[in-house]
Amino acid sequence: MIKQNITQLLSELPQDVELVVVAKNRSPGEVLEAVEAGIRIIGENYVQEAEETYALVGTKVKWHFIGHLQSNKVKKAVRIFDMIETVDSAKIAHQINKSCWLIDKVMPILIEINSGHEKQKSGVLPENAELLVKDIAVLNNIRVKGLMTMGPRLGDPEDARPYFAETKRIFDHIKNLAIDNIKMRYLSMGMTNSYKVAIEEGANIIRIGSMIFGKRI
Ligand SMILES: *Cc1c(COP(=O)(O)O)cnc(C)c1O
Repeated sequence: MIKQNITQLLSELPQDVELVVVAKNRSPGEVLEAVEAGIRIIGENYVQEAEETYALVGTKVKWHFIGHLQSNKVKKAVRIFDMIETVDSAKIAHQINKSCWLIDKVMPILIEINSGHEKQKSGVLPENAELLVKDIAVLNNIRVKGLMTMGPRLGDPEDARPYFAETKRIFDHIKNLAIDNIKMRYLSMGMTNSYKVAIEEGANIIRIGSMIFGKRI
């Protein structure tokens, strides 16, 4: 099932769209099955869960962190992950930068945008994104590569379209500023119910879990 779901999905996706397979709450064995079906990137929300799966899967694939990163997990996270998609404050950016400096690594990061302006959600507000990017552009051990957004979790994927479109506008705006050290390349938007709309609005990374593994219990 996992293999068929992946083959089907990969055959549908435009060539320039990267699939991140979201492994939250899945067993390492399930994730390995996905890897064997030919995926290239795993997305993890939890550092501890990632460590367990990493022990089985290792560096056959790239690892993207897509959860809310806590300060006390940064040191472990920078060893495992090849990209951190959810940077939303100068504070966490500095912590990642410092931990990467200690192990001589340069971490590609995305800025998470709270496109729905939802109070309880993580992500930087759209109006503060430019300032954050300028603020952290000088750090040597991280590289801003683009933006990520969740958008509000809604039933109808069409309802997510304005939030994806707004994130794309911010992406283009920051790209046009041509800030030193910043190459805007990735726009990570869209999940199982919304990835088609996200691609129409310019996503080139989509993050899919339940469509591949089945509903989370
Ligand atoms: C769970 C999750 C996804 C995938 O959601 P599905 O609806 O299972 O495809 C994508 N991105 C993030 C940040 C997630 O936490």
